[in-house]
Amino acid sequence: MPRPYILAELTWKTVRATRYDVAVLPWGATEAHNFHLPYGTDNIQAEDLAARAAERAWQRGAKVVVLPGVPFGVNTGQLDIPLCINMNPSTQALLLRDVAMSLAGQGIGKLVIFNGHGANDFRQMIRELQPQVSLFLCTVNWYKVVDPKPFFTDLGDHAGELETSVMQHVAPDLVLPLSEAGSGAARKFKIAAFREGWAWAPRNWRQVTDDTGSGNPAAATAEKGKRYVEAVTGKIADFLIELARSDTSKLYEDQ
Ligand SMILES: [Zn+2]
Repeated sequence: MPRPYILAELTWKTVRATRYDVAVLPWGATEAHNFHLPYGTDNIQAEDLAARAAERAWQRGAKVVVLPGVPFGVNTGQLDIPLCINMNPSTQALLLRDVAMSLAGQGIGKLVIFNGHGANDFRQMIRELQPQVSLFLCTVNWYKVVDPKPFFTDLGDHAGELETSVMQHVAPDLVLPLSEAGSGAARKFKIAAFREGWAWAPRNWRQVTDDTGSGNPAAATAEKGKRYVEAVTGKIADFLIELARSDTSKLYEDQ
């Protein structure tokens, strides 16, 4: 059965009879994820969690539709790793503009960019694009919606316990046994300011990690992934419902 909130599964017969309030655009990356997770990890997670959140919102009456995801992220620090595919921020901005302008011309009022890759950053793109389009633009990084600390013991940021647990829950057939995984050991910057995070420079991934992971996946379980995914998608579903109902010209508290 086609899911009524997944555009790729819908026909024109359904679409022409439905008024959608919110479009959700999953956006991931194509990159190595240690030895045990697939290159499509960020795309699989973004599309799957967007669908779960949209399902929960749809069941409560919100007219939400998830668009096909964009599979390429900013990966300028991994260009020397075979088949990591980089899409530059300036290219992403043009792609986003075309998608947003298509939807705006069709009367869709709101677009949520559902991001699943740490090096993608849509905020500046939205600042630049928003004055040019009539639909409301916003972005969510799904891995920042719920504090992961109560769920996981090792908080790495790439192919670690969090991502591995989520994948064990949503796509278990694509996860190799954890005995195949590297330790995800990541080298820190020597310069204190970068280490402390108040000065920033992109990391060269090959020099940071030997197995392409950053964070130890050893303690990952599907059960942890399930609990975290349920918390994240529940919170995003509430947001989608609230956004669908909102008049985006009146977003602020009354005086
Ligand atoms: Zn990832």
